[in-house]
Amino acid sequence: MDTSTLDALRKENQQLRIRLDDLLKQAHVNEKKLRRLQIQEMELLGLDSLADVITTLTVDYPRAFDLVQVTLVLVDADNQIQKLLEQLPEGLRQFQGVMLLPDTTALEEIFRNSPTPRLGNYNSAVHASLLGHSRPVPLSVAMLPLLRRGRLIGCLNMGARDTERFAASKDTYFLERLATTVAVCVENAINHERLANLGLTDPLTEVNNRRFFDQRLEEEIMRTMRGKAPLACLLIDVDHFKRINDTYGHQAGDNVLRQVAAVLRQHLRGQDVLARYGGEEFVALLSAATLERAEVIAERIRRALEQRALPLDSGDTLQITASIGVSVLQPQQHQGEFKRLGVELVERADQALYHAKETGRNRVVASA
Ligand code: GH3
Ligand code: MG
Ligand code: MG
Repeated sequence: MDTSTLDALRKENQQLRIRLDDLLKQAHVNEKKLRRLQIQEMELLGLDSLADVITTLTVDYPRAFDLVQVTLVLVDADNQIQKLLEQLPEGLRQFQGVMLLPDTTALEEIFRNSPTPRLGNYNSAVHASLLGHSRPVPLSVAMLPLLRRGRLIGCLNMGARDTERFAASKDTYFLERLATTVAVCVENAINHERLANLGLTDPLTEVNNRRFFDQRLEEEIMRTMRGKAPLACLLIDVDHFKRINDTYGHQAGDNVLRQVAAVLRQHLRGQDVLARYGGEEFVALLSAATLERAEVIAERIRRALEQRALPLDSGDTLQITASIGVSVLQPQQHQGEFKRLGVELVERADQALYHAKETGRNRVVASA
């Protein structure tokens, strides 16, 4: 073998060695990555509250993975997810990294040809609508489709500080794996909460039931006592409802209750609590509402019910009225058990409602 061949072989050998070193290094990095991912996945799989899954993804993950932001987009065609989140004590607004979509159109546009991760430089025209506006603006972005049984249920978006992290040429094995786990966890948490929620919803009117109200009342009182804003309570009772049943039948009565619930829902904010308290009686808790404000809202509800012609199956329409009692709890003014304060708040609204009935019905009376 001449020296030039030997030299060439030596050079090739050297290059192979460097290549092998690189591969070993890469394998080592990947192993570390995989281990870190596994830990995060196990944690995620252990959660069954939707709020915890969302917080882990959008608040903990940016820190854990050194990202500018992580957002979660979910398809919420029947508003079920929105309802679940609104029912939490802090409501929907606490989840800034979450976006709910009415259908899959926006997602299908992104993942049109194949539901695989989309990586690349940040482009506000493409990304801002699903990533929101974060400071600093990310330089590269990964959008991971979330799939369950072949259907797009949402996407997980990550923004990085540099252009390299989610460069379009990067391997997406880890990201695909994360997306699979996240999709399972999100679906699992939603199902779990839906089931729990069934026991807290009134099947006729689809508003919350008394059991839910009793739970939330205590939480709302606790929050009020810690804060500065008052908590108002409205007790709404349909006038002469028995006559409606007697005249038009129980089915028509049920129908009226559903429509009353719909009117009430329209007049309350997402963070307010609405529940069916009993037969034809509803209760609402208005957070951060003074007595005056609560009276204004109660009066709007009273008028809306009075003015609404409720359609009956027979084709006729029906006019109804309701009486409303209003009470309020001032923060830091009372002492004592939260439970007792809650009972007293509702009792005062009930006394006011009694006065409204006594003084002619179809009116709002505030507790003294
Ligand atoms: P008031 O103006 O004093 O409130 O009179 P009212 O007739 O509304 O009150 P009362 O308490 O005498 O009657 C309430 C009626 O509501 C009696 C009950 O049969 C009826 N009711 C309770 N729950 C339901 C229900 O789920 N569906 C129907 N259709 N009726 C119900
Ligand atoms: Mg009544
Ligand atoms: Mg009643």
